[in-house]
Amino acid sequence: MDKILHQPLGGNEMPRFGGIATMMRLPHIQKTEEKRELDVGFVGVPLDIGTSLRSGTRFGPREIRAQSVMIRPYNMATGAAPFDSLNIADIGDVPINTFNMAEAIRIIEEAYDEILELGIIPLTLGGDHTITLPILRAIKKKHGKVGLVHIDAHADVNDHMFGEKIAHGTTFRRAVEEDLLDCDRVVQIGLRAQGYTAEDFNWSRKQGFRVVQAEECWHKSLTPLMEEVRAKVGGGPVYLSFDIDGIDPAWAPGTGTPEIGGLTTIQAMEIIRGCQGLQLVGGDLVEVSPPYDTTGNTSLLGANLLYEMLCVLPGVQHR
Ligand code: MN
Ligand code: MN
Repeated sequence: MDKILHQPLGGNEMPRFGGIATMMRLPHIQKTEEKRELDVGFVGVPLDIGTSLRSGTRFGPREIRAQSVMIRPYNMATGAAPFDSLNIADIGDVPINTFNMAEAIRIIEEAYDEILELGIIPLTLGGDHTITLPILRAIKKKHGKVGLVHIDAHADVNDHMFGEKIAHGTTFRRAVEEDLLDCDRVVQIGLRAQGYTAEDFNWSRKQGFRVVQAEECWHKSLTPLMEEVRAKVGGGPVYLSFDIDGIDPAWAPGTGTPEIGGLTTIQAMEIIRGCQGLQLVGGDLVEVSPPYDTTGNTSLLGANLLYEMLCVLPGVQHR
């Protein structure tokens, strides 16, 4: 039997503004036996109870899907043709408990255990950055410790937030403590603004992370940097975690904790395209908050960055 290859619904079959808005107008696959045929699954995690300032990321997955309807299959810049060789679908949202963080985290980990067990590479539509912790816990069980490419305005390595150990600003400290990361293969890009202390980013450096502060990225192409990043994080499985607030609020205002002086959308594409060749085992796009996204541009950007992630996954053919 030929391999099943789901295709995005074309713009001439149903108007792009019509129909049910799944990610990239792909089929919504729910049955376990059909999920087993998938190589890649887009997953929504509508969590926002881990945010510390402006909430609203619970609406992220829906709005990213709505803004993804114009994305066409072929990447005209890189030649990537993900739908020619991989079976890809939207596998829906994780039914988090919005009243109980501990429960929500447990539900997310369990959902990703199943997704990974089925052999699906998860590309996640967030949700606030708390969701990356349970995803990495599940990934560790499947792949062992991973390298990490983390794009963000913030290091997310706080010991606690308001006394809570699990929140969107503590994710990567917990990941280190729980031994989920191969710390010598971690890069954080886009960090900026003010710290609680002058040493905030040094905690990351002490773990062995390469920290690329936003100022190091200003006014230039990041393609040369990505050569260094590939050398640092390569040699094993890698996870890609993209906090949309890594991008400047001029392009991505719809987020909870915006910081000026951020990356451009072009640099974001250079970063993701620069991950080509890495052994990526999953990725997420987090912190899109539609209530603060009056034009829809932040969700549009998020949808396109998820497409770019899809294009650099192992096994994608190029034309
Ligand atoms: Mn973050
Ligand atoms: Mn952030």
